[in-house]
Amino acid sequence: MHLEDIFPYPDFRPGQKELANAVYSACKNGNTFVAEAMSGFGKTAAVLAGSMSAAAEDGLDIIYACRTKRQVFRVLEELGRFSERFPVRATSLFSKFDYCLLRQKSFGITPETFKWYCSFQTSNNLCSYFLNVAFNHDKIAKLVDDQTGNSRPISELLRKGTELHVCPYEVARLSLARSKVVVTTYHYLLDKNSRQILIPGDKALGKIVAVVDEAHKVRDFVSGNSTTTLPFSEIKSCIEDARNLYLPRICSAISELNDRLVQFCSKNDHWLIKKEAFLNAITGNYPKDWLSDLVFELSTNSGVAWYSVATNRNLPGSIINLGSFLSALLSSLDSDDMALVKSDSALFLTDTRPSRRFLEATTGFRSLVLLSATINPSSLFLRSIGLDGSSTIVHSATTDYKFRVRTVIDCSVTTRFKMRTPEMYSKIARKIASVCSSTPGAIGVFFPSYSLLEAVRGPVVSEIERATPAKARTILVERPGLTNQDSEDMMTAFKSNHGSLLLAVQGGRFSEGEDFPGDGMDVSMVVGLSLPPPSPKMYAEYRQLEANHFDKHQAYMVLSLLPALRKAFQCAGRHVRNPGKVGMVFFLDSRFAAQGIIELMPSWLRDDLVKGEYDIDTIGSITREFFLAARVQ
Ligand code: SF4
Repeated sequence: MHLEDIFPYPDFRPGQKELANAVYSACKNGNTFVAEAMSGFGKTAAVLAGSMSAAAEDGLDIIYACRTKRQVFRVLEELGRFSERFPVRATSLFSKFDYCLLRQKSFGITPETFKWYCSFQTSNNLCSYFLNVAFNHDKIAKLVDDQTGNSRPISELLRKGTELHVCPYEVARLSLARSKVVVTTYHYLLDKNSRQILIPGDKALGKIVAVVDEAHKVRDFVSGNSTTTLPFSEIKSCIEDARNLYLPRICSAISELNDRLVQFCSKNDHWLIKKEAFLNAITGNYPKDWLSDLVFELSTNSGVAWYSVATNRNLPGSIINLGSFLSALLSSLDSDDMALVKSDSALFLTDTRPSRRFLEATTGFRSLVLLSATINPSSLFLRSIGLDGSSTIVHSATTDYKFRVRTVIDCSVTTRFKMRTPEMYSKIARKIASVCSSTPGAIGVFFPSYSLLEAVRGPVVSEIERATPAKARTILVERPGLTNQDSEDMMTAFKSNHGSLLLAVQGGRFSEGEDFPGDGMDVSMVVGLSLPPPSPKMYAEYRQLEANHFDKHQAYMVLSLLPALRKAFQCAGRHVRNPGKVGMVFFLDSRFAAQGIIELMPSWLRDDLVKGEYDIDTIGSITREFFLAARVQ
């Protein structure tokens, strides 16, 4: 099959056809394949073209796993375009929480307690949406047919599910079996329990191509997904919730457990805890089964659910969380990779070898295709997720795109922890204001954390108002916990007000999930290097990497530096989406000037790079001159 026969655009962009061909060959030959291509290259279309051609010839299915729901929507849009020339049955799969019609009519169910809620409703015949699935066979078959034939959005499925009064999640599940392409989130591919829904036991892995988008994120995802956290405050809430739910036996058992736990932690101040010793300590003089019986009651206690349903109250997450934590701890006793660590405020049970989990989830497929805009250095990236460099094909997609992007590294400021002072914040604010007053278009400023954003926000706003009182800019500020609707409203305001200023965080939804093509943004400013703060969980991963022959520097690169740089480069490239783009990138932190870091930057950031200790006037004139020269050319 010729790629041109299914490719939905009149022409391939530079490098796209080569990537599509390379993906096609990898799928035909059963290779593990890693594609690195800059954002805006058109990776999704190229990878779909290559994998769908091979799948059509060899009768393969494709699973396309994305990090976020928003990215799933984008792949579905692309698939919709392919379908016009090459109809293929496709569907998406989101979390049950997203589909549930019952919870929308019910009291506030959180994602944490939802699994329990749904299982309680269905096993007690309390969900009519679920019960109706069995009685609407023909209508559901038609809905599945319609859903998979046209890549319909989830909103459409929710609407149809409401009309028919059936659970949309069950329809989505039935759609999987009819689909040749399934687009979903990481969870379904990489989480052991959820994966059974996506890939039932009787499905041959050798007939599936798995595509993983934003592959530089998978290690973090697997690590986070395998970590169970128990804040000490949660145990106290659990005691309180058990008391309020009239569960005196559970309430007194948890109180005793908490007393022994507090005593144990006060005597053991090391961050790493021996699991056996911890379990013995919290069990006290009770027989061994006491703890497992308690865990069983905590995680399955129907009394809690009945009480919650009867009184229209939310299920107490604290009881479920404590049950899950202790259950995970008991089942981790044979695994050295699962470490129990503690901080001042919580216990963590964490898998220190996420690469092993990643391999378990991805081995056996006909072909594994990983995509990323930033995997440099690729050999370390492959090792960090357990892949063998000698048998993995790495394709660096090249283009002859020309950008006019000037990169400025300002070495006179930093967000190093010890240097975080009001004077430093005010200095950073003046630099941002200076760039604002010298830039005609919109600007995105990305901070390493919400607290730093908050510390600099006030000075930035007053500096801008002082410097350019007549030229009011619309200023939009990212806050933690924004809903999808809030974010969409913010982006609409940003894009519809020329010259807006966005203050956001590195690694947040605006720095990785949002594009600003064309004239949507002229300047991106990366304030500080967002190295993750040291934590007991990180110490445990360091130990494990070193035990697996990573030297200290490589372990630091994998766990701290590369994740921070990738976030910074993603922010830097938000507005560099199209060939011919004219724009500027500022790195406001002296640490970016180190030669080793400059070498890790993508080439488009290095092509026109200046660094130095710039005062406010100089930074303003560098900005003005750049845009003036760009306008003349
Ligand atoms: S079966 Fe469906 S509608 Fe019913 S509770 Fe579960 S997810 Fe919600």
